[in-house]
Amino acid sequence: MNNEHPSTRILHSDRRGGVEHGAVHKPSHNAVTFGYPTARDLADVFQGGKSGFVYGRQGNPTTAALETKINLMEGAVGTVTFATGMAAISAMSLALLNQGDHIIASRYLFGNTASWLDTLSRLGVAVSLVDATEVGAVAAALRPETRFIFVETIANPGTQVADLAGIGRLCHEHRLLYVVDNTMTTPVMLRGHDVGAGLVVHSLSKSISGHGNALGGSISDTGIYDWTAYPNILPAYQGGPPHSWGLLQIKKKGLRDTGGTLSAEQAHRIAIGAETLDLRVERASSNALALARWLEGQPRVRRVLYPGLPSHPQHLRARELFGGRSTGRFGSLLSFELREGIDPFALLDALRIVVKSSHLGDNRTLALPAAHTIFFEMGPDKRQSMGISDGLVRVSAGIEAEADLIADFARAFSSLDA
Ligand SMILES: *Cc1c(COP(=O)(O)O)cnc(C)c1O
Repeated sequence: MNNEHPSTRILHSDRRGGVEHGAVHKPSHNAVTFGYPTARDLADVFQGGKSGFVYGRQGNPTTAALETKINLMEGAVGTVTFATGMAAISAMSLALLNQGDHIIASRYLFGNTASWLDTLSRLGVAVSLVDATEVGAVAAALRPETRFIFVETIANPGTQVADLAGIGRLCHEHRLLYVVDNTMTTPVMLRGHDVGAGLVVHSLSKSISGHGNALGGSISDTGIYDWTAYPNILPAYQGGPPHSWGLLQIKKKGLRDTGGTLSAEQAHRIAIGAETLDLRVERASSNALALARWLEGQPRVRRVLYPGLPSHPQHLRARELFGGRSTGRFGSLLSFELREGIDPFALLDALRIVVKSSHLGDNRTLALPAAHTIFFEMGPDKRQSMGISDGLVRVSAGIEAEADLIADFARAFSSLDA
């Protein structure tokens, strides 16, 4: 076993895997199909007896090289990539669930994931949404037909931190599959394996890519879950060692059948972005913490939500979960609520550096009025039940110089005096 840091390993991963001409990057393999010298060779690849590629919808050497890097970062035994994070989540659930099954998910979910779970419930899968910051709420929702528990690490925009380790222990006790969406924390702050997750989800479009120039998603198997306990694995996928069953079914019934494939070009860009993930998370986290502290001192701000602030309800949990390998990293996401009567549009429009934009984990700092954008579709009643007020501003801290960011917000707040 190699004990190099994951950052070191991903930087040298392509080269060590063997790339033509000694190139340091895996090239973008754009071939749609792959030919073999004999029909027997082709049949062996089809039947899984030999490794290889057959048709681009099921992956290519460039996506495979990225999957190797995600394995290194997550300490996972296998990864399948997808065209987007939503393609990964929808394909994974379609592959693993049957009508009549039940799943438990956090009620503080990324909006499109929540929308997808609503679709699943229309297809005959029962969904319980619970407060995942309390393991007791998760335990109370368990049913005999519960197939998996799905949580995110830091919720958007409220920044609630789920009881990730507690839910991991609960799943272990009940031999339940535990799926953790690690997009907000990335493997440099938390590894799914360390909280007992069986599957780890990433939107590669966010911090892992970082440069806002590629969309992607992935599902990794940490090797923790015993798939012999999962009732929905089809006989065709039970041939190999049990740790491979789940991901094989996700690859066949998920990726292959839904066709949400990551392209080679996008995989290449994501892999380049991932090389600097550790540095970027460090910088974005320290910018977010500085901004959160500064905002807490502003009289026009009612409250600031950031796991790195001692005022955050799960601050101690966040320290424990995200502080292991490098202290003081609490991620790039923060939100703040303006006092009654202060117009978030006026504040945001006065910012010159911060981009008025959706998206998260970009190198540039982005901000939006949450109730009027990402939570507009659900309507005022649902927003109120989720604690999303009209004055809530969500910020995704980038990697600009800290002083420039604070100055931008200071200028915008003072413009409100005029
Ligand atoms: C963005 C996001 C997704 C979806 O990813 P896309 O790549 O945009 O499809 C899923 N989960 C979380 C937590 C996200 O932030």
